[in-house]
Amino acid sequence: MNELDSELVRGQLSALGYTFSDNPDAAQVVLFNTCSVREHAESKVYSRLGIVGQRKLAGENILLGVLGCMAERDGLALLRRFPQVDIMCGPGELDKLPALIDAARRCEVATAAERTALAGDRTRRSAVLSAVQDDLENLDLSRAFDPIVAGRSVFAAQVRITRGCNKFCTYCVVPNTRGAEVHRPPDHIVDECRKLADSGALEITLLGQTVNHYRYEHGAAVTISGREAPQIGPGLAAFRTAIPAGKRVTTFAQLLRRIHDEIPSIARLRFVTSYPRDFGRDILETMRDCPRICRYLHAPAQSGSDRILKLMNRGYTRSQYEAFAAEALEILPDATIAGDFIVGFPTETDQDFEASCDLVRKLPFKNNYIFKYSPRPGTVAIERFTDDISNEVKKLRNNVLLNLQTETSARVHAAWVGRTVDVLIEEVCTRRDTQPATGGVELRWQTKASKNETTPATTLRGRTAGDLIVSMNTPSGSNPSDFVGTIMPVRLQNSSSLLLHGGLTTHLVAPPKRTAHASK
Ligand code: SAH
Ligand code: SF4
Repeated sequence: MNELDSELVRGQLSALGYTFSDNPDAAQVVLFNTCSVREHAESKVYSRLGIVGQRKLAGENILLGVLGCMAERDGLALLRRFPQVDIMCGPGELDKLPALIDAARRCEVATAAERTALAGDRTRRSAVLSAVQDDLENLDLSRAFDPIVAGRSVFAAQVRITRGCNKFCTYCVVPNTRGAEVHRPPDHIVDECRKLADSGALEITLLGQTVNHYRYEHGAAVTISGREAPQIGPGLAAFRTAIPAGKRVTTFAQLLRRIHDEIPSIARLRFVTSYPRDFGRDILETMRDCPRICRYLHAPAQSGSDRILKLMNRGYTRSQYEAFAAEALEILPDATIAGDFIVGFPTETDQDFEASCDLVRKLPFKNNYIFKYSPRPGTVAIERFTDDISNEVKKLRNNVLLNLQTETSARVHAAWVGRTVDVLIEEVCTRRDTQPATGGVELRWQTKASKNETTPATTLRGRTAGDLIVSMNTPSGSNPSDFVGTIMPVRLQNSSSLLLHGGLTTHLVAPPKRTAHASK
């Protein structure tokens, strides 16, 4: 979500003539797009703000801005703590950023109100109104390809389908920082996907906090000119009952099918993040029927203990999670499943933790992001529960679960060896950043200049439709970078817990065309 926000901000500022620098020391405007989900991420930003702040105090003429969730969460307290910050802009107000930068540059002594654009308490109170008047929607709609990014051949892009979240998991700051769940009109989403595909995107990822709960009721929210507008999400009850007669609704499954069928040049259509509760069978069947929808589900379990899941307010039990995974694998036997776990949630006992370990042992998770519980201001958990699990225990549980996940990942990867799969090739790697695959594949590459000179450091890296990372040797005599941004069949030869390794099955004399092979 944050990456997409950064991309939209870059596009918006590029269109206004701003240029971007890879060197932060050379920039006249320094913007930090921030995340508040865990304390650790915030600490890193504070330390970077301190560094730029020192440069300002030393007399450098820099405009310093904080964007995103930290600006929203900290509010004016952040300005008091870091008076060197010139502007702050919450995630729901990013469309106002150019005006803020402009005002800050023109008037050196701006008031706090002139320097900030935060939704604050209004985010939830007037959410229905703001959803309809959503200026932020225009930021997504007016999306322009950032020429710097475009210059690097964009083949993977993200499109937001919902904003905010209404689930209120007790540990999570997102409903406060990003506001109420708002669903974008399907036509806006399809148009944006088409625009990205026309600009060369091969892979599009649909984004939302609980993307499978997308549901747009036509005619319910329109602008004054009669155009469809973003609308507030329907709530969980909507997923338990049939769509009432006379209502015209676009479900998530229908949205997926529309994008798949109407834009055939999208070679891969993905979505994150899925919520394991009320995951419709219609979505799984659509994935089965549409070959260019990736059979990949990122559906965080968070815990394997029913008691902890209840305290987290996740709304499902462990056996419901297992039933969801079983149904997904029954309809899509090739699907890969990934997720997130939190360890050290308040009151988590050894037995609760063992239940999470057991889930990671039992289910074929390709990977899991594992987080130590971090109490966040403004959440129900910080108010209601003591953070009673010591950092040592959190660390220990984190490592134990990571080790178990490593074993599970190795098993999942090993099951793919011997198969030929389509890989979207994303980058040329050197040995320094290549994780060697089990089986010790020697990475040898002959340059055209000197046939016998080996440059063992070069290999290619990409991802399967199921998001498995694959490293490949380049056929001798071809230029590795010609393959970047193409989808090629790769025979998988060996595996580790981190990745698969294989060989391209095609030997090309001319650079491959940047088009997709049909999915297998
Ligand atoms: N909407 C997604 C998750 C978004 S936040 C979902 O519901 O699955 C990404 C991940 O950060 C979460 O899945 C959770 O594992 C982790 N996370 C969120 N708040 C956290 C906290 N307070 N402490 C530790 N991890 C947290
Ligand atoms: Fe946070 Fe829960 Fe919403 Fe995910 S579903 S963003 S964890 S509140």
